[in-house]
Amino acid sequence: MSDEHRRPAIVVAATPTSNGDLHLGHLAGPYLGGDVYARYLRATGRPVVYTTCTDDSQSYVTTTARRGGTTPELLCATSTAAIRRSIEAMGISMAGLPPIDDRYRRTVLDFVGALHTAGRFRLRTVRLPFASRSGACLYDAFVTGTCPVCLAGSCGGSCETCGHPNNFDQLLDPRSTTDPADPVVYREHRVLVLPLEEYRDRLTAYYAAHDGRWRPRARQLVGELLSRPLPEVPVTVPGTWGIAAPFPETPGQVLYPWIEAMPASMYSTWWTEARAGRVTERVDEHWLADNDAEIVYFHGFDNVYHWGLMDLVLLMAHGDRYALPTANVCNEFYDLEHEKFSTSRGHLIRGTELLAEVPRDLVRGYLALTAPEYQRTNFSRAAMRQVVTRRLVDPWNGLADALALCLMDADTATPLPTSERGRRDSAAVLARFRLCYELPGFSMTRAAETVAGQVDRALAAAGTGTGTGLPGDVLLRARAVLAGAAPILTDVAAEAVAAGVDLGLSDASARPAAVAAFRFPRLPGFEHRRTTPVAAQRDLPMEVKS
Ligand SMILES: [Zn+2]
Repeated sequence: MSDEHRRPAIVVAATPTSNGDLHLGHLAGPYLGGDVYARYLRATGRPVVYTTCTDDSQSYVTTTARRGGTTPELLCATSTAAIRRSIEAMGISMAGLPPIDDRYRRTVLDFVGALHTAGRFRLRTVRLPFASRSGACLYDAFVTGTCPVCLAGSCGGSCETCGHPNNFDQLLDPRSTTDPADPVVYREHRVLVLPLEEYRDRLTAYYAAHDGRWRPRARQLVGELLSRPLPEVPVTVPGTWGIAAPFPETPGQVLYPWIEAMPASMYSTWWTEARAGRVTERVDEHWLADNDAEIVYFHGFDNVYHWGLMDLVLLMAHGDRYALPTANVCNEFYDLEHEKFSTSRGHLIRGTELLAEVPRDLVRGYLALTAPEYQRTNFSRAAMRQVVTRRLVDPWNGLADALALCLMDADTATPLPTSERGRRDSAAVLARFRLCYELPGFSMTRAAETVAGQVDRALAAAGTGTGTGLPGDVLLRARAVLAGAAPILTDVAAEAVAAGVDLGLSDASARPAAVAAFRFPRLPGFEHRRTTPVAAQRDLPMEVKS
């Protein structure tokens, strides 16, 4: 095996804000995508950490808590529990969510402290909007207004519509979110900032080397951001929620929450490995450049500026200490019945809600087929039932029947011999799947389409003799389809693995001289009742930025 086959991978899904549960839009975006990619890498034998970490310091926690009549601390606790249940119910292969504890805060403070000591931050006097009656500094969730770039309605920090940042006094028509009638005034404050412009050469070189590794719209936004003066990102803000900034120049301020994402990702990587018994002394050990990990982020378009620019510079600002990400896989928005998911209007479906009604493989199969990879796509219950039944369940179970029929008269006491043509066909099937799962072209939608297409073709080959008709060849081809589907349809895959079926995705796995008979696991229908009930839902406010 080459080193590339042993290279460790760190897959990070956008850090969810702990101000509500994950809904289907979130799950169909970074969380399922990252899971499918992580499962694929594991099937090829790579060591993989797939992780995320709740973003408790976000201002959205306090605004949501205030609306819901609760405290930010309680909201964080209930939301983290709900997100954990959603991740588990969807079969997302993470170890869980790490606790936001003293070690977390120490990791963040060590990370920013080293940058401060190295002189990477600048002290600036900036104009900030304040609510004149409440006295609150209006940043991020505390302020709404008009995006100065695309003129859409936007919160502070960055615009969900065009993806551009707006810092300090840049948002037009600012109003306090908690009390729109509270007049806005501007005050000058001294804050620490991270000047992205100082990293232009390194950013330009990085993007020249990673040009083909971004989806087109995200790459276009990166190009747009690089074509204008790069912003100065706040490192500290005059706020009350979050981690107290430890710097003498900015007494009484907190760390700007978005500054935490990189140390948070290092901490959650460390925690995941420690849970698996691989404890390292240094929390940032796995991210050190010497370890040469392949780092891949999965996040939404609204986070391109953060993960693609601000967080990249936060790593670069440490010199050559850390590995830089290999790729960012960005998704667009997912609509529900052709309208935006909306918490305030109750227009949403939580993952756990759907998974209580519909078998998990069918949910994962449909989300993979319709995921918003390149543009907005739509979830509809009626379409899910129709599409999944017609394209996935019926042909899949037809293949299970055809295989059982084919094996009925075969001598299955010993492994069944395969032919050269059968081995070649099986290798061809696996090669098609690998193309869908490999970066930079990773696409779970194309992988799910490939499952449907290859099931149809394997079924035809089993029944009408487009293949050799040898039971060993039919079996081998069905095994290849199952292995290709395994990162998406995890419950049927687990059933096959428990029965001893090799679901390896390497070319070698495709070419055995003989293959032991196995029962092709059937997909459940929509009427199938779950035997393990999904944990009961709590009613939580849902305005997760992820
Ligand atoms: Zn905008």
